[in-house]
Amino acid sequence: MARLAGKTVIVTGGAKGLGREFCLGLAREGASVVMAAHRFDTREAKEAKAAIEAQGGLALEVNVTDGAGLAAMVAETLARYGRIDALVNNAAMYGGISRAGIMDIDPAEWDALMNVNLKGPFMACRAVIPQFKLQGGGKIVNIASEVAFTGSKGMIHYVTSKGGIISFTRSLAAELGQFNICANAVAPGYTDTSASRTLGDVTKYDTSKTPLARLEQPDDLVGAVAFFVSDESNFVTGQTLVVDGGRYMH
Ligand code: NAD
Repeated sequence: MARLAGKTVIVTGGAKGLGREFCLGLAREGASVVMAAHRFDTREAKEAKAAIEAQGGLALEVNVTDGAGLAAMVAETLARYGRIDALVNNAAMYGGISRAGIMDIDPAEWDALMNVNLKGPFMACRAVIPQFKLQGGGKIVNIASEVAFTGSKGMIHYVTSKGGIISFTRSLAAELGQFNICANAVAPGYTDTSASRTLGDVTKYDTSKTPLARLEQPDDLVGAVAFFVSDESNFVTGQTLVVDGGRYMH
């Protein structure tokens, strides 16, 4: 039997990049997947919607900072599948953000980014936790980043938000363990997505410090997310798994 058969998983920011990869990868493992995306207004997003629907999934427009929209997402998921087993908090402001130094980042961009990258997962968790409690458990997988450990020159707002996600994950785990709800994070290294390409030339990325000596690809991350969604990780909580070809070891 497929590893995630019978499980319903919501992936935020699911219409492109890593989110799309998670949706399709989890569906391949047998999950019923809700591709929750901000909008399906680009060709890429429409293709992702068609691809997940072809796998029996559901595509929903949701802004992760909007509590009413998240409540509707939960209601539509339950109407379709009757349960929710996991939430993957993947949506974030990443592509197109300022790679500037601290003095050149507009405070308005700091606020907007924190609103999506930290308040978004907070709001999305609040939307699903009551259902997890009713079902006797659930899985939360937060997408952090390797840069939370290493720091980065430029984009301090983004790096700070990803550090926050790791602390958020630990607090969720501490608080929700009593309800059999597990919360873990996956921290990708620099990965070849269209968003990464807006921030630099991925082909010039120095992989000489990567033990596995190549640029990370979106499908390198699917196994780690599937593990945290699956029953194989039922006694693992509060952890952050760095998936970066071994660049940052902890
Ligand atoms: P991306 O920009 O393509 O993905 C982010 C997604 O979030 C997009 O689909 C976007 O529409 C969505 N989103 C933004 N604001 C939203 C909102 N308010 N409501 C709902 N959705 C919203 O980037 P990606 O490279 O696919 O990255 C995906 C995740 O992985 C992000 O959390 C990113 O921080 C993280 N990450 C990426 C890399 C990398 O190198 N690509 C490395 C480490 C971590």
